[in-house]
Amino acid sequence: MELVVEQNCPSCGAPIVLHETDRLVSCPYCDVNNYMVGGGGLRFLLRAGCPAGIGPEDLLYLPYLRFKGCIYQCQGVEVRHAMIDTTRIAVAHDRLPMSLGLRPQAMQLVQGTAAIAGRFVPQQVKSESVFAQALRLTALFKREANGQVRHRAFIGETISRVYLPAFEKDEMVVDAVTDLPIMEQGLEWQKLVAAAVPFRRDWEPRFLSTLCPRCGAPLHGEADALVLQCRNCETMWEEADGRFAAVAWGRVPGAAAADRALPFWKIAIRQDGDGGLQTYADFLRLTGQPVVIRAEDDARPLVFWTPAFKLQPAAFLQTAHYLTVAQKRLVDGEPGSLPIAYPVNLPRREAVQALKSVLAAATLARKRLFPLLPALDLQAAATTLVYLPFADAGHDLIQRQTGVVIAAAALRFGRKL
Ligand SMILES: [Zn+2]
Ligand SMILES: [Zn+2]
Repeated sequence: MELVVEQNCPSCGAPIVLHETDRLVSCPYCDVNNYMVGGGGLRFLLRAGCPAGIGPEDLLYLPYLRFKGCIYQCQGVEVRHAMIDTTRIAVAHDRLPMSLGLRPQAMQLVQGTAAIAGRFVPQQVKSESVFAQALRLTALFKREANGQVRHRAFIGETISRVYLPAFEKDEMVVDAVTDLPIMEQGLEWQKLVAAAVPFRRDWEPRFLSTLCPRCGAPLHGEADALVLQCRNCETMWEEADGRFAAVAWGRVPGAAAADRALPFWKIAIRQDGDGGLQTYADFLRLTGQPVVIRAEDDARPLVFWTPAFKLQPAAFLQTAHYLTVAQKRLVDGEPGSLPIAYPVNLPRREAVQALKSVLAAATLARKRLFPLLPALDLQAAATTLVYLPFADAGHDLIQRQTGVVIAAAALRFGRKL
């Protein structure tokens, strides 16, 4: 479930309520749009209630890491997947709550800023080991383990920090949200207190003005869009290293006015590897596709096509698999007018991380391919954003060139991931 966060407008300071994955902060008061940089590094606070005698400056904030996304795991001869959505404590302490449970979802959170009084306990446990703990709670580990894990990827990830406020009272540590005691103070607690620091200004999110860097016109996008569009000069922009960078893009025109344009990452694979996966023919052979391989397939460099939007794992893998197999029928298109663009909400970096899982899902010869997965080096040489047309058939959207189907419900559900 998505978190809801209160954030002050970076232009006028008015309070705005955002969803966790929103990047475009649209202020209804001053009518200015700002783009929030820092996907992943955000710090949210549970709102504290301070009883008499306790001030905001007395609060100690305890760090929890939040993981939300899909895990793909190639194990034995299966591609398994699970959704993860959890918070886990990020300090080594066995008497503090391990997880915040449903509280971050039930409450409106506050975006952390340097204006917040109180002190913040630093993360003490590596994110990787906190994640490994969280992973053990997923469905991937509930079933009987069968076969060696060849590959694992965490996709569509949100990693943020959620802080639990607490205060000290009569030898006890008290949860400042519920006003209930958590535990007695002790030596371990004193160590946490001693390490706490004020909120640092460089932990605050940064904002970019949403004017086209090329022509100065306003950029467009939905709240969760990672790629913003300039309708004036027909360019696309994504944040990279704290500024907007132009995205290579194209759109394949639809066959009807009602066609939907959905965004995909077209990922060319680096050709200097020695993994034996360089051409489209290599792909067909390695995955054992039941097709005749032609001479032209040996000359065609391999590309992967993955959705540039979130879908639940099974739908994501299937869509990427079918489009990659059907790549001969797809073209890049060219930039042009794109009135209604479905938002790009899956970063290219994560699409690249999903490639091995897509390859595994596409393969019919699993006994042969899966042992090769760990050593396989799939790196992106170039990524292009391509909007492909889909006919709207009510319950299904049908890709015009390939006939690949995405259920309308899967699209709706993906928006909430
Ligand atoms: Zn404002
Ligand atoms: Zn422009």
